[in-house]
Order: sequence, then C-alpha cells, then structure tokens
Amino acid sequence: MPAVNPLTAQRPERRRYRRGIRGVSIIAVLAAIASIAIVLAVGFASFREFATSQHAREDLIYSSTIRADLQSIYEQILAAESATRGFIITGEPEFMPPLVEDREAILRKLREVTVFAVERPEHVAALARLNRLADAELRLLQEMIDARQRADTSPIATMIQVRQGKAIMDHIAETVQDIADAEIAAIAERTREVRIVGQRTKQTLLMLLAAAIAVVCGSTVIMIAHLLGRRRAEQALGDTLSRHRAILSSAMDSILTVDAGGSIDSANPATTRLLGWTPEELSGRHLSALFRIPADQTGDGFFDALSTAASQGGGVRELVGLRKDGSTVPVDVAIGEMRASGGRSLLAVLHDITERKRAEVMKNEFVSTVSHELRTPLTSIAGSLGLLAGGATGTLPERAQRLVTIAAQNCQRLVRLINDILDIEKMQSATITFARQTVSLAEVAKRAVDQTGGFALEHDVSLSLNLGPGDTSVTGDSDRLIQVLTNLISNAVKFSPAGSTVEVNVARAGAGVRATVRDHGTGIPESFRPSIFTRFAQADSSDTRQRGGTGLGLAIAKEIVDRHDGALSFETEMGVGTAFHMDLPAARPAAPDAAPEPQAVAAAPPPLPAPPPAQEPEPEPEPEPAAGPGDVLLVEDNPDNADVIRAMLERTGIRADVAGTAAQAERQAHALAYKAILVDLGLPDRDGISLIRSLRRAEGTRTIPILIVSARASGGALPPGEAEALQILDWIEKPVDPALLSAAVRRAMPDGGRAAILHLDDDPSVRAVVRAALAPTMEVWSTATLQEARAALAERDFDAAILDLGLPTGSGRELLPHLRRRDGEKMPVVIFSARDQDPELARQVDAMLTKSQVSLEILAATVGRLVKPPAPGGTV
Ligand code: ADP
Repeated sequence: MPAVNPLTAQRPERRRYRRGIRGVSIIAVLAAIASIAIVLAVGFASFREFATSQHAREDLIYSSTIRADLQSIYEQILAAESATRGFIITGEPEFMPPLVEDREAILRKLREVTVFAVERPEHVAALARLNRLADAELRLLQEMIDARQRADTSPIATMIQVRQGKAIMDHIAETVQDIADAEIAAIAERTREVRIVGQRTKQTLLMLLAAAIAVVCGSTVIMIAHLLGRRRAEQALGDTLSRHRAILSSAMDSILTVDAGGSIDSANPATTRLLGWTPEELSGRHLSALFRIPADQTGDGFFDALSTAASQGGGVRELVGLRKDGSTVPVDVAIGEMRASGGRSLLAVLHDITERKRAEVMKNEFVSTVSHELRTPLTSIAGSLGLLAGGATGTLPERAQRLVTIAAQNCQRLVRLINDILDIEKMQSATITFARQTVSLAEVAKRAVDQTGGFALEHDVSLSLNLGPGDTSVTGDSDRLIQVLTNLISNAVKFSPAGSTVEVNVARAGAGVRATVRDHGTGIPESFRPSIFTRFAQADSSDTRQRGGTGLGLAIAKEIVDRHDGALSFETEMGVGTAFHMDLPAARPAAPDAAPEPQAVAAAPPPLPAPPPAQEPEPEPEPEPAAGPGDVLLVEDNPDNADVIRAMLERTGIRADVAGTAAQAERQAHALAYKAILVDLGLPDRDGISLIRSLRRAEGTRTIPILIVSARASGGALPPGEAEALQILDWIEKPVDPALLSAAVRRAMPDGGRAAILHLDDDPSVRAVVRAALAPTMEVWSTATLQEARAALAERDFDAAILDLGLPTGSGRELLPHLRRRDGEKMPVVIFSARDQDPELARQVDAMLTKSQVSLEILAATVGRLVKPPAPGGTV
C-alpha cells in the first residue's frame, strides 16, 4: 500500500524539477533546430561546389572541342594550299588537290563550329572573319589551279596570287590563334573561379563543422548540468519523502488519504492503534465506514458533507469513530483537500479526544460541585450577614454595624462572581438549554427597566424606555434576554454621571428587532474596545472595587445573544457616551393557535395525570410541630440555611415550618394546610423535583403553590417546559436575596394579596405568555385540559377564569356552569380564543377577546378590571 503521496507536500522540489524538465526540453528543441540548419547549410555548400566544378568541366571540354576543330580546319586549308602550290610549280596532277570537295567539307565544318560556338558570343566576329578568309583562300587556290591548267598565267601573276594566298593564310592562322587564346584565357578564368568557390565551400564547411561541434558540446554540457540538478532534486525529494514517512509513522494522530469518491488510499500506523484496522484492511474501504453516521444522514451524504467542508478550506468536527472490534471512540476529525497529479483527494486527520471528553466531564462535575458546595454555605453566610445588617437581631453597635455591612456587601459580590462564573461555564459547555418561545422584546425591555429601576435610583440616573412601532417579537428565552438588557442597563447606569438619563429603545430594524441601551457616560477607551467581550475584562481594574462589577457580564451577554442567533455590538465616544445594540432576528409571525413549540411539549410530562398509588410506604404519623403550623413549608436539608431562610421570612411576617427530607415534607404537606411550599432540590432522600412531582399527583397538594429555592440555577436545570408543567411559581437561586424571597413567597400565597386566575388553554406557548403578562399582579393557574381545570376548581378558589374554546377534548364553555367563587358569587369569565365571536356566548361571559386581535396588555387590563381589588399586601 503506498504511503501518503509526498508529492503534494514537495512544492519547492517539484517546482525545481518541473523547471529543469522544461529547460531541457527547450534546449533539445534548439539543438535539433541548429543541427537541421547545419545539415542544410552543409548540403547547400556541397551542392554549390559540385555544380560549379561540373560546369567548369563541361566548359573545358567545350573549349577544347572548339579549339581542336578550328586547328583541324586550319590544317586542312594549309594542306590544300601546299598541294596547290606543288601543282602550280610542278604541273604534276598528283599534286592537284580535290579542291572542290575539300572546299565544301572545310566550309561545312567551319559552319558547324560556328553553330557549336554559339555559346561564345565573343567569338562571333572572329568566326565570321574566319569563314570569309577560308572562303577567299579556297577560291584563290581554285583560281590558281584553273590558271595553271589553262597555262595562261604569267609567273608574275602567279607570284602575286601566291603572295595573296600567303597573306590570307596568315590571317586565318592569326584568327584561329586569337580564338584559341581567348578560349585558353576563358578556361583559365573559369579555373580560377572554381578554385575560389572551392575555397569558399571549404571555409563554409569548416564553420559549419565548428558550429556542429559547439551545438553538440553545448547540449552535452547542459544535459549533464540538468542530470546533476535532477539527481539533486530527486535526492531532496527522497529526503522529504522519508521525512514525511517518518512523520506519518510516528504521528500520534491517525492520518488517512481518501480519494474523491471516499475510498481510503492510505493510512498511517496510528490509525491501527486508534481503530484497530491495519492499513491493508482499510485500503479501498469507504471513509464513512469508520464513523457512526448521524441518524439524519446516509453514508454518502455524510461523506459529501465532509468533502464540501474540505473544499471550503477544511475544518474540524467532532465525530464518533468505530473500531474494528465494534467499540467507539470520540474523535476530532480535521479534513483537508489535496490536489495531486491524479486529481483531487482528501486528507483526514483523526485525533482521539477521549481524554478531553473525560476532562470535560470532570470539569462539569467540578462546576456543579462548586455550585452546590460553595453556594450552600454562602446562603447561610450571606443570609445571616444580611439579617444582622438589617437589624434582625436588634441594633448593633455602630462599629459592628459598619463591619457587618461591609461583610454583607462583599459577600453579595462573591455571590455575584460565583453566579457569573457558573453562568459562563454552563453556557460555554453548552449544557444549558434555552427556551425557544415567541417573546416580545418590548416586554423584555420593560421588565429589564423595571428590574434596574432601583439600581438607577441609587445612582441618581433616570431610565427612559422608548418603544418603536411594529411587532418586536423574537424567538428565545425571555429570562435570558432580560438578563442581557439588565446587564447593559446596569453597566450604562454605572458609567453615567449622576443626573443623566439612560435611554432604552426597542424597534424593528430591517428583518430583525434591535434593542439599544444608550448612556451619556464616560465612553469605552479605544484600547479596551477589542477585548470588551472577553471574560474578566474591565477597562479599569479598579472598577471591581468602585463599581462592583466582575468583568463577566458582557461575556455572558454576548454568549446569550450569540445563542439566539443575534449580534451584540456597541458604538462609543470618550466623554460623550456609549450605545450597546442587541440585534435579534424577528420571530416568524405565528397563528395564535399555532402548534405548540415541539421542544416544550416533547419535554413536558403529561400534566397532572390521575394520581397513581403512592410509591412511598405509608408514613408514620409525625408528631405535630410544637410551634403550630406555619404559613409555608420550607423543605431544606441544611439546618443553617433553613434557619437563615426561616429568619428572612419571619422578618416579613411569614411563618415557615421546616422539613429536612422529602418524606417528611410529603407527610407535613398532607397533614397541614400550607399556603405554599418552598423546595430545595438537593435533598438527602430524594431529588426535590421528584418530590414536587408526587405532590402534584397527590390529592390535596395538587394545586398548592410551590417555589424552588436552590443552589442550582433555573435555566437548564430542568428540561424545557418542565417547570411550567409542574406549576412551579418561582425559582429563587441561592444564596437567597431576602427581598426577592419574601416577595416571591408573598406572591405565591393565595392570600398574598394577588388575585388567582384560572387559565385554560391547550397551547403551551399561549399559557406561557398569558402567565408572563399577568404574573406581576395576578397568580395564574395554567391548565391544558378540561379535566385539569375541573381538578383545579375542585381544590381551590379562583377570582376569575380565562378560557379557550377550541380544545382538542372539548370547549372551555363546558366549564361555565361550574365557575363559582367560594363565596357563592359568579366567577368573572374572559373568553380568550381564536374562534369567531358568538353572541349567544357573549351574553354569558364578562368579556370575549380574540387572540391575535387584542394584545396581552388588553387581556391583563380586562382581567384586572373584573377581579376584586387586591387586598393590601404585607410589608416586605
Ligand atoms: P462588569 O461586571 O465589570 O460590568 P462587564 O463585562 O459588564 O463587566 O463590563 C466590562 C467592562 O466594560 C466594564 O468594566 C467597563 O470597563 C466596560 N463597560 C461596559 N459597559 C460600559 C459602558 N456603558 N460605558 C463604559 N464602559 C463600559
């Protein structure tokens, strides 16, 4: 099986190598061109040389022929003349030449030579003269012979004729000699030319030879240099290859190469250690076979997602690896893309995160231990100090009072710090679940302004709330959003000068909703701006002491906003002020009777089913508490905390009995009619939630107001919807704030001055928003079915009822005949339904409101008008 293709990691060597190859190719082409040119030049030079000599040879033959012919003609004429002279002198006929035939033959031959010498235009004149002279001579000879034969010639005349013939012969000899000389000169010239051409050809050939040698030598040198370079590149490549092999085989993480289709090409030894498969067994397998595929994906879909992630620059994801033996291992998978000569492939690096997971679990356990172990003692410390400082044990000496006040304030700071640390830990470990309900951001802002009003007053800063037009609904967790705005407002107040105003604005902004908190304070220093959202970041470290912050508030706020898919941003100018913006996506407008949020419903256990047979063994009857029954029952196992909380409640006139275990709590709750029960979640015999469940199932305690007082924070401690299903009215976090505690208990007690409203609606989100809208002034008892509503009516008194008509099991109007207050009066009824108005029904009830047409404020105001005026509450 080949190792991971190192070529992908050898960029410099590969580049050098490629450059070398390209260089050699260019040189080879140039050398070939040069060689062809040299061969052509050699051929041309040789051809020229050959042609020139051939031409010269032909010329020489031509010239010799002309000269030989002329010489022979001359000799023939000369012979004729000698014979003629012999005949004249002797008169002997044997000397008489056959002149007539000779003359014809000589002249013919002369004409032939003339035609043959046509290529020698310079001889034209000489040849014409020769023709004339030959003709004249031969004629003269004939005349002389004729005269001798006739014997009428005088010796003088003969003498003259002989002289004439001699002169003509001299001319002929001269002309023939001229032509021969000219020919010889021409041949000499030709020979010289041939020699020059030959020399030139020799030079050319020598030059070409030199060029050929240069080309051969040059290419050889370059070839050798290239071969050496290639050798070096191959060596470097080999070194890198073995380095990479060493890295791969000694890597702690599993490294796999995968082709574009998902088949594994190679795997390093760490893969065998991690997953148990050998590289040979893995070769050709599909990558997705190494992981547990998420239920909503197929193998191909899973690989496609990885492949897409790789092409977008890679990334790391947490997956569950499958070992050969069937066991699983958590892994971080980093996926990257490789482009090699064979096409695209992927590189997957698998890192075993078992240890990290274990550490995470340990950290979470540690956080929860800290949560409980630190908060429980702090409850009694902070509570006791608060009571001492508040004068619960009588007036303290002035010095002691000051010291106790300092201790109480610092204890509160410690509490805030611990709460913030736990909050951010939970958020970052994602153990916290946020509710996802439709929430009006305007409502959130109102409540945040309400909650921070006192703080602003202390700092002499006014708060102004401005709500823009339009729907400001967002989807999320209203408590968490209130927490964000509360933090932003209290920061704004802290950093504002006395007498100034902090504005809180909520308005639609494009496709979202924006809440802005603007102050006219110090502004945020330039250097601090980039780190403002990091944990424990404060522009001025003395803020902790002077302004009581922890530096965690904005980090938590940002985390919450991020988890709502929103954005937290700010604008600031030194000395002018700061504006923080929380932008959230607007909620999709939902029909009022829309299907309930699936999360909330799925998690909620069936509300108040018929009571099952009690699981606990029948309790032994407890001796009556000596002090007589209190107003409320406090279920708390830590005696110190129990004492402190009881003392806090007593300060506001609420008497509390204490039960240390769940079993004791159940017995007391059934034996005595408490107005409310306060439950701590960590009880020695049973979890507080399970106690609440059995109280809710049992006759007699089904509708009793229950509050939780716990070191566990409310968000995330229960599955979404569970608190509502169990009708938990409030959740007071430890360490307990005395004011919050007694206000909550007072609100929960039926005679706490608040009207009790029965609400019937099958939609959990409607139940939640109605409860939120009415909660500040009324106690809302939410029921989802007719059966639940009837059970609630049988157990307790209500001041008014809000009914939905379209229930899956019937209509709210079926309850109308049973709606009587305990004093016999008819109970005011408001129909709050998505159904059309029914005039017949309208006569029987006090108000008919249509969902989506009226706001919750109108519903709250309508119900508020109908219930009896609240009784004056106790002083808190
Ligand atoms: P803290 O609990 O200390 O207020 P935060 O995270 O809420 O922690 O704020 C961190 C720091 O950011 C503050 O200490 C302060 O220096 C700066 N800061 C936050 N809000 C403002 C503001 N409105 N004006 C000026 N400075 C601010």
